[in-house]
Amino acid sequence: MDLGLRGKVALVAAASRGLGRAIADELAAEGATLVLCARGADQLDAAKQDIAQRTGVDVRAVVADLSKLEDVQRVTTEALSAFGRVDVLVTNAGGPPAGTFETHDWETWERAVNLTLRSVVEMTRAVLPGMRQRKWGRVINVTSIAVKQPVDNLILSNSVRAAVTGFARTLANEVATDGVTVNNILPGYTRTERVEELATATASKEGLTQRDIVSRFESQIPMRRLGEPPEFAALAAFLASERASYITGQSIAVDGGWIRGLV
Ligand code: NAD
Repeated sequence: MDLGLRGKVALVAAASRGLGRAIADELAAEGATLVLCARGADQLDAAKQDIAQRTGVDVRAVVADLSKLEDVQRVTTEALSAFGRVDVLVTNAGGPPAGTFETHDWETWERAVNLTLRSVVEMTRAVLPGMRQRKWGRVINVTSIAVKQPVDNLILSNSVRAAVTGFARTLANEVATDGVTVNNILPGYTRTERVEELATATASKEGLTQRDIVSRFESQIPMRRLGEPPEFAALAAFLASERASYITGQSIAVDGGWIRGLV
């Protein structure tokens, strides 16, 4: 299937590793020009070099902390000045910290809102006018299965990602006649560095092995295995494509069946 992404410009946030990196790989393989950002310069530069060498596409990388407004603005400004437009915006960031209601104070909530919600709003603010003018655009937000079925001990993620979902659904309606679609993809347990680190940390706290913890995750998933990042990224590439032109306002899970609800 030709996804029609050759020559499109995609901005993929938080793309030095994990799900963001997998999406960047997939879009580059489809011929899209890329702008990537993340906090750590070394890993981001390694991602940029690797993708450019393997695919031959033009890749720019901007070091930025997405919880800071000035950094978010620098990413979008550099993307627009390098390529003149952004056709596909993929919002993503590190997850907010785990914990229950009593764990988090005002400052922690504020940081989570800035990183998980406001970075999405501000990146969208910068690139949406051009998309509407050109009558073509794709906004894809990486959220979580937590928006359909909250995950215990993740009150920040469960709450703030619900806000992203409300934002996206509303925006989808506002820009639907301009050829711009807005969708969310919801990762289930996917084998990224973050999940491996989480499993290792939980294992050492409970005196178990990392394998024990991963088996616990797998036992909740009908497919009885973690997802692989390319399985997740395949949906992002499709939603970014010409072929997904009539899909908007949706939250689609890539979770091996983890969400048990009917819709
Ligand atoms: P990861 O830790 O492997 O990668 C996160 C990426 O975000 C890295 O490139 C990192 O440099 C970047 N990043 C982190 N904080 C940043 C910041 N403040 N500013 C800029 N960049 C920043 O994580 P992942 O597994 O790829 O997860 C990506 C997102 O998806 C997270 O929000 C996570 O909570 C969510 N999620 C992941 C899973 C999963 O199973 N992997 C499941 C549900 C939700």
